Amino acid sequence: MKIGIIGGGQLGMMMAHSAIVMGHDIYSVDPSGDCSITKFSTKHYCCEFDDIRCITKMCEDVDVVTYEFENIPVEIIEELEKSFCVYPSSKALKFSQNRLIEKDFVNVLGVETVEYCNVTSESELHDKFNGEKSVLKILTGGYDGKGQVVLDSVVTPDAIELVKKSSCILEKFIDFDYEASIIITRSRDGEIVFFPLSINTHKDNMLFKTEVSKIVNDKVYDTAKDFAARIAESLEICGTLAIEFFIKGERVIFNEMAPRPHNSGHYSIEACNISQFENHINAVVGNEVIQPVLLKESIMFNVVGREVEKDFSLYDGYYHDYYKIEAKEKRKMGHITFIDETKNGLNIKVEKYLEDL
Ligand code: ADP
Ligand code: MG
Repeated sequence: MKIGIIGGGQLGMMMAHSAIVMGHDIYSVDPSGDCSITKFSTKHYCCEFDDIRCITKMCEDVDVVTYEFENIPVEIIEELEKSFCVYPSSKALKFSQNRLIEKDFVNVLGVETVEYCNVTSESELHDKFNGEKSVLKILTGGYDGKGQVVLDSVVTPDAIELVKKSSCILEKFIDFDYEASIIITRSRDGEIVFFPLSINTHKDNMLFKTEVSKIVNDKVYDTAKDFAARIAESLEICGTLAIEFFIKGERVIFNEMAPRPHNSGHYSIEACNISQFENHINAVVGNEVIQPVLLKESIMFNVVGREVEKDFSLYDGYYHDYYKIEAKEKRKMGHITFIDETKNGLNIKVEKYLEDL
């Protein structure tokens, strides 16, 4: 099939790579003409994500359309789905673009979140901030910790600047035990398959590593699966969906979701019988989705900024280069996944890598 992908970053690139291995052909759209996906696409349209004429041209070339990025204007997907097969639908996109809408939505489904409220002005921030540690986040467009300020006991100039720029959500800061995510794929027919639970460690609010093991807390995993299924069914999503949680004891607290493959699912390329990207492609082209099985213990590290200059052949891992033209501070340039039969074996491989960080 010919598949159109809106967004040309590393997620689009890895989707495209999987699709090509499965025999499909990729057409892509992104404002950058030399973005990661162009390594694999047959034809690349270079335009902004609100350029409906240009994106429509790409859609006319293909059998089915998907996207790798949740900040495409929802009106664009609404318009496209009138004439083309677009998965996931605009409904899934709408509910995941805005931190307030997504939290209100999952609460109605009985999914726990942190306490939060909407803050739209400096005076509202002073009124609503009660001196307890909190996080102020812009409602839309934030990623990798961008567009967030942590408030300890007083309203800071950074926070005022943020709320002046954009409407925000003020969340109670949670002293979680750890962070986890679950990735699922739902087929066009509504079958849902679940990837294992990923345990995520962030540095400066940006994902640093993801660990996935056969040994997990079953209660936490079952709750995460139950929450993910409620959300996926309610959104009638077709494709891969990722949900991030804070875990405290056995409480599973929703943080955010994305209707696409996710950074914490990259390990699945080597560690599972099927990757999050392959299953996404299976779903959007109308194939059955495959139940993922974790074959090995695994750890993935993001490679950011100048770390990309390392010689990755020195390590017993699988390095993925995103082919980005320029290394910038905090920019994800690639990732490396380590797998092993045993946790001990895995730790030995990882130790060598960490020594050189
Ligand atoms: P992004 O879209 O940038 O990933 P997140 O809401 O996931 O935004 O925040 C990034 C990271 O910041 C989280 O993974 C977590 O480590 C930390 N964080 C965010 N919100 C909270 C919170 N309410 N309490 C504690 N830590 C938080
Ligand atoms: Mg996040």
